[in-house]
Amino acid sequence: MKLRKSASVAVLATLALAMTACGGKSGNAGDQPSGGGSGKAAAKLPSYAVATGVKIDSATLERAQKAGKLVIGAKNDQPYLGFEDTTGKRSGFDIEIAKMVAADLGFKPEQIEFKTVDSNVRETTISKGEVDLYVGTYTINDKRKKQVGFAGPYFLAGADLLVRKGDKAITGPDSLKGKTVCSIKGSTPLQEIKKPKYGAKTVELSKYSECVQQLLNNEVDAVTTDDAILKGYAAQRPAKLEVVGKPFTKEPYGVGMNKDDKALRDAVADALEKHEKNGDYKKAYDATLGLSGSPYTAPPALERY
Ligand code: GLU
Repeated sequence: MKLRKSASVAVLATLALAMTACGGKSGNAGDQPSGGGSGKAAAKLPSYAVATGVKIDSATLERAQKAGKLVIGAKNDQPYLGFEDTTGKRSGFDIEIAKMVAADLGFKPEQIEFKTVDSNVRETTISKGEVDLYVGTYTINDKRKKQVGFAGPYFLAGADLLVRKGDKAITGPDSLKGKTVCSIKGSTPLQEIKKPKYGAKTVELSKYSECVQQLLNNEVDAVTTDDAILKGYAAQRPAKLEVVGKPFTKEPYGVGMNKDDKALRDAVADALEKHEKNGDYKKAYDATLGLSGSPYTAPPALERY
């Protein structure tokens, strides 16, 4: 109860901010999805000093240096995390993490080519070399480590539930018996919610935004994925959606890359460490994910391997 209340206070504050940023034009922001992390937030975003003369023993980096661009896989429908607006502008915390890391590898923001890669094709896209790095709410786990390398964690999320506002029947993962829950192919929360102990029916789609639409259309009872993602959707439509607020898994986010490129893994870990220490990380967080109602907490300790 307490959690839900403080979350809604935060959402209201966010909404007030968003409305100020838009000059207070929107009279009914609760019913309309907003841009998700642009507007006023963009003004406070840090910029990252771009390194020069970077030389590391990484085949991926050498290829990117020759091409003069770094290809980074990301999400495009996760407000405040990885979002692409109708003009093609990307915003969100993961996009900032991508820019910080790219800067330390010697690439300016305009030398990053973002490619939208959804959860179910991440491992294949990375291992085929179609992206150099991947930054998109990507949970580090042993199964995935067999196919890709990770630097991180840079953030700790947890699977939660998004429901229609005022739905008192769903109070947490233990109240899902017979309910229909939407989630995403290739995601860890889908694997979790399919466990027989929850007794839930699942609808499995490719994009989170499609699950959210099904929830709004009364076609499913809940959406499950990481709380950080769900809070973004709730902040966009605070009159219609809410997050239950009882995380039931641990989802440590990492930057994905080629499995065997240890030099790149180390360089990305160094970059994450540096930007956390110099305050960029917190500034970026406060200007993106922090606006959707999750207060800043220091990232977990990096796990180097
Ligand atoms: N973090 C979870 C995962 O990597 C869910 C979010 C996502 O699908 O990106 O599977």
